[in-house]
Amino acid sequence: MDENQQGGLAERPVEDTESARQNGEDGASPDKGWMAVVTDGCDECGFSPDFDVQTTGKRVRATIPKWEAVLDRLDAPRRPAPDVWSPLEYACHVRDINALYRGRLDLMLAQDDPTFPNWDPDTVAVDSRYGEDDPQGVAEAYRREATQTADQWDAVRDDEWGRRGLRDNGSTFTVATLAVYFLHDLEHHLKDVSA
Ligand SMILES: [Zn+2]
Repeated sequence: MDENQQGGLAERPVEDTESARQNGEDGASPDKGWMAVVTDGCDECGFSPDFDVQTTGKRVRATIPKWEAVLDRLDAPRRPAPDVWSPLEYACHVRDINALYRGRLDLMLAQDDPTFPNWDPDTVAVDSRYGEDDPQGVAEAYRREATQTADQWDAVRDDEWGRRGLRDNGSTFTVATLAVYFLHDLEHHLKDVSA
């Protein structure tokens, strides 16, 4: 799905891939990839940002059986190409971003205009040995993590969706656009693993 492969590196998760692609194409700020999903959606997976963000929790829950099915597959631990993440590695990534985004949401609800700590998905993938994880354990952890995140999105009050937060690269978003961005990550990677 991606022409953006470099050296021995695995294909990167969305957050980085889109920045790199955007940079390569027109020299725009790395931030543009992030904003593009939030405003324009994603041609690659068909994601539309025009949905009721109050349904975020429901849609997060809907990804759980899909990721469980992915992790049930015999080919889950196998990389389709040496430089493309296996379904198992993608599943570990989406498992882990749940806690990441819960932390970001917590911060936005607790503070005015907070800046998020940096997070590099590739470093985390290597450090956490995604490729050696147990698929069944990952499936159980994903269910637990995604359920907790869905509950947190369900609890966002009407007057909180407009609260702001900042990435360390300066991009600004709201609780609502964070919901869009996060949900896209979970759903987009299902497409990556042909689920
Ligand atoms: Zn997408």
